[in-house]
Amino acid sequence: MEIREILKKHNFRFNKALGQNFITDVNLLNAIADDAEVGKEDIAVEIGTGAGTLTRVLADKARHVYTFEVDRSLKPVLDETLADKDNVTVVFSDVLKMRDEEIENIVSGPFKVVANLPYYITTPVLTRFLESSLPVTEMTLLMQKEVAERLTAKSGTAEYGAITVGVEAFSDAVVTRTVGRSNFFPVPKVDSALLRLAVNKNKYKIADEKFFRKTVKCAFLWRRKTLASECNFDSMIRGEKLSVKEFVLLSSVIRKYLKK
Ligand code: SAM
Repeated sequence: MEIREILKKHNFRFNKALGQNFITDVNLLNAIADDAEVGKEDIAVEIGTGAGTLTRVLADKARHVYTFEVDRSLKPVLDETLADKDNVTVVFSDVLKMRDEEIENIVSGPFKVVANLPYYITTPVLTRFLESSLPVTEMTLLMQKEVAERLTAKSGTAEYGAITVGVEAFSDAVVTRTVGRSNFFPVPKVDSALLRLAVNKNKYKIADEKFFRKTVKCAFLWRRKTLASECNFDSMIRGEKLSVKEFVLLSSVIRKYLKK
């Protein structure tokens, strides 16, 4: 039975707030799984099972698929669409609210993340996995095209930001394909791109990851002149021109941002 018919049969209502834009085209789903380079030795972790269309394709390629879905109303749909797959574990849970230990208790050993992400959780998912100590080796994520461009932007461009540095510092990222909005059901307002990140925590010798991230965040606040304007400084002011009083003010504003 066609996916749309199965959804209809179970009276499934799409929840816009959960970014539910599903993909049903098997050729596209296969291309996504191929770009993710998921093979018979691999454990795949999928975020957002939806109707299980990508899950099915991943199950045919991977050793095992652990797929996390926050919307329990999809259970009857998934019971049907994944009934013939014996290497799939569906976990009904919000992946962003799970602690590393909880994920490790379910998924043991190194894994590859593959997901057609709800747009609103792209950055949280990226940071959640890149900043964790979980043994994630690769992440292949379908996201809003403009976000993928920002994440792979070159320094000196308007798109280059703290999140670009965070991604580039701990992984090698490439856009493998763009996916037009008409490939999704229901059709979203934006086009997408597939970003593949090979995680490499030792790419640079960063002694203190947390401090590194805070430094980057602060530097970009400076670029956008947020710090200067909060301190009421001329945005062109240079360090050697600041009085002690101004340094005290600057330090308290930086402290406020670093605590965030
Ligand atoms: N993988 C399916 C596909 O490609 O057709 C569905 C993709 S759809 C863009 C995203 C899915 O993520 C939705 O089913 C949504 O309910 C689920 N989702 C949203 N937020 C989530 C979260 N925090 N944790 C787990 N799943 C989530």
